[in-house]
Amino acid sequence: MLDVRTVHYHGSIDFDRPGKSLYEVAFHYDGEWGNALVPLVVINGEAGPGPGVAVFGGTHGDEYEGQVAVWRLMHELDPTLMRGRLLMLPRLNTPACIAGTRTSPKDGANMNRAFPGNPRGTLTSRIAHFVTTAILPRVDVVLDIHAAGRGGQQFALCSSFHPIADPVQYAEMVKVASLFDTPFVMIYSSEMASGLLTDQAEAMGKVTIGGEFGHSGGVLRQGVAHAYQGIKNVLHHYGMLPGSIMPVDPSRGHPPRLVAATSLDDYVPAPVSGYFEPVYEVGAAVAAGELVGRLYDFERVAAPPLEVRAPHDGYILLQPFAAPTAKGVTMLVIAQEVAL
Ligand SMILES: [Zn+2]
Repeated sequence: MLDVRTVHYHGSIDFDRPGKSLYEVAFHYDGEWGNALVPLVVINGEAGPGPGVAVFGGTHGDEYEGQVAVWRLMHELDPTLMRGRLLMLPRLNTPACIAGTRTSPKDGANMNRAFPGNPRGTLTSRIAHFVTTAILPRVDVVLDIHAAGRGGQQFALCSSFHPIADPVQYAEMVKVASLFDTPFVMIYSSEMASGLLTDQAEAMGKVTIGGEFGHSGGVLRQGVAHAYQGIKNVLHHYGMLPGSIMPVDPSRGHPPRLVAATSLDDYVPAPVSGYFEPVYEVGAAVAAGELVGRLYDFERVAAPPLEVRAPHDGYILLQPFAAPTAKGVTMLVIAQEVAL
C-alpha cells in the first residue's frame, strides 16, 4: 500500500518528487465543515526525463470504466521503469463518484461544464480551477475517460476529440486517439456544450483525447480493456513506459475508423417522448433514410410506433440504451467516415 498525504494547501504538492506519490487533495465543502478528498497520483519516472501526461477518470461520477482503469494503473505502474511525468486523477469529481451520479451532490454542478473553474466558486468549480492551474500546465497530453453513464444513451466504443485547426496537433490527436484501439475515433462538435475539461486542455494546446467506454452505470469489460491498454499505449508511444503498443481487439480486423459528427445537425433530438426500440447495435453502418429505430407512445393506443430514420449515411455512434426517451434528448448520432 502506498502512503497517502492529505493536502489542504495545494501549493505543497511536490510535482517534482521522483517516484510515485499519492495525495488526497482537500477542497472544503461550500456549506458545512468537511472536504472533498480528491485522489491524485504523481509519478515522476526514475528512468529519466520525458513528456508529461495527465489522465482523468470520474469526471462524471456515474461513469466507472475510467475510474477502474485509472485506479488499476496508478497502483500497477512502476516508476523505476518510467520516464517523464504522469499525473493520474481517477475520481476527479469525487463527491459525484461517491454518490454514483453525473453531477456533484454538493453543489449540483457538472465537472465537465465547469472549466476553466473559479477559485472563489463552488466546490466543483474550485476543483476545475485546480486542474486548470496545477495539473494541465504540467503536462503535454490529456486523457479524459468517459462513458455514457446513467443518462440512458449508449455510445459505440470510441475515443474522441474536437475539430482541431492546427494540422500538426490534429495529426497527433488522430495518432494518440487511435492508440485506444476502439472501433471508432470520433471527431465531435464543440457546439453541444462548453466548459469541458477537454475544451480547456485544447485551448492550452495540449494533445487532448476523450472517449466513451461504456454506459448505464456499469463496468463494461471491453470498455475497461480499451481504456486501460489505451492509456498504457499512450505511455509507450511517448517512450514513458517500456514495452510496445498492443492492440486491444485484434479480432476486429480493421483499425479504428475515423468518423466525424461535427455539425449540430448530426445530433438528432427525440421529436416526442416515447420508448425507443433499436433496429441495430451501436456501431452499425446505415444508409440515409434507413430505419434505425422506433419510438413507441404507449399513452395512445391508436398511435403506431414512430419510425426513426437515418438522416444520412454513416455509423450509429449513439442511440438510446434505456427504453424511455424524453423529447429533446439526443436520440441519434450518425457519424460519417473521414479520410485519414
Ligand atoms: Zn462523461
